[in-house]
Amino acid sequence: MAKNRSAETAAPTVSIRKTALLSALQGAKNMHPDEFIALFRGENAADGQLVLTELIIPPFATGDEDSSSYSPYFIPANSREKASFHSHPDPDTAYPSDEDLYYFSKESGIHFIACWPFRLQDVACFDADGIEIAFTIV
Ligand SMILES: [Zn+2]
Repeated sequence: MAKNRSAETAAPTVSIRKTALLSALQGAKNMHPDEFIALFRGENAADGQLVLTELIIPPFATGDEDSSSYSPYFIPANSREKASFHSHPDPDTAYPSDEDLYYFSKESGIHFIACWPFRLQDVACFDADGIEIAFTIV
């Protein structure tokens, strides 16, 4: 299956507040070389745009060098989480692993992956099919 959207398909339009993304990247740096996982809270704007506003750090999240996880049962029901974020400890690895693709397919929403050294340009965003989608930092 091709991993590219055709030009006719409307891709989700995603924007993220810079403060939220920088918080996530700082978390990734703090956890390195272990993985860091978190969620972004967001809102669907009237024009269909998804705006991610805030980082949510799930309680009892765990990470080691190969994986990270959290229990969704500890996320308050009103969190309005719209996206996941996790880090990959190695450079040039801002793309989903097979495990990530499995997780993405089970969750709706969108998923950010950041790789070492966790600069803004080390972040990529994917939909539930693992297809990279563009996002805007606002
Ligand atoms: Zn991963």
